Amino acid sequence: MRNILAKTTSTAFALALSLQSTGVLAELDKPIMDPAVPFDQMDTNLYNHLKSTPSTYEAWEYGYLPARCHDVAESWENKSPYDMEVYNVLYEDCDTPWVICRHKDSPMSIEKMIDNFGRLPVRLRNLVRVQLAFPARSEGQLLAYAFSDLGDIVFTGDMYPYIRFWFHEIGHIRDANVNASAGDYSASDAWLTEYDKDEYICDAYAKTNNAENFAQEVVVAGYDKIVPGGIAGLVPNYEDIYNQFVNVQEVMGDELCPGGTCDRLFEDDHIVCMGPDAGCVTERDHIAARDVRLASRGEEQPHICDFGL
Ligand SMILES: [Zn+2]
Repeated sequence: MRNILAKTTSTAFALALSLQSTGVLAELDKPIMDPAVPFDQMDTNLYNHLKSTPSTYEAWEYGYLPARCHDVAESWENKSPYDMEVYNVLYEDCDTPWVICRHKDSPMSIEKMIDNFGRLPVRLRNLVRVQLAFPARSEGQLLAYAFSDLGDIVFTGDMYPYIRFWFHEIGHIRDANVNASAGDYSASDAWLTEYDKDEYICDAYAKTNNAENFAQEVVVAGYDKIVPGGIAGLVPNYEDIYNQFVNVQEVMGDELCPGGTCDRLFEDDHIVCMGPDAGCVTERDHIAARDVRLASRGEEQPHICDFGL
């Protein structure tokens, strides 16, 4: 079980490939609409119509962090948990803080993360537990992944100018939690029936598999709700994907609309010590606790989204 918890990126990609080859996450065979949805033109309009929510934040005491932040730093990004900064972020529309873990060398400042996240409708923020920011894995690469079963999102590289990627990653979380015990909604008959009503998919990235198509449609659905003129104002042939994004809007309801207040989907992650050098745990206890944790998470497979520009 433990070896599924990939120690390296290549293991994770190999896993994704093996799932694709079994047909679980197969590439889609529908053609891409022409023109495709110009996702790269969405961010400016989204920023113009999503106001930043006033907020305050404070750093955690050194030495402790959410277990997810420890384990992603160590096992996924090959970084030291001791280099993680942890913050509680309190927005004025919610009396519960969100936790953000930022590697000290992330190109994305904590202020920019707070700004982007605070622009999202609060009912969409409800789906998120912990957010993490790391340096890009390689020059110019933008890669994000979501542990969609528990609402945790990892960003590598400077995602700040691309608020659409926040919608996309939260789309994966929604996909996994429409009916968590039944598996991803994007693999359900309900979704595939709507998908089959359309002749096209929205862009090349959506072609990757049903889950990525659904996440891209969440971006389309959100844009359509938030920006005046909707998706029709961005792409004239929007009816090519009409049944898909309207279904997302029906499934997500007011999560895509600004306003309201918070009602969080997930409990907070539990807190662990950074490690023996932080003085809060012995090395033996730290490793024992980590191994129990990793074993219990053996099945976890995040959706890895490569937004390389
Ligand atoms: Zn994705």
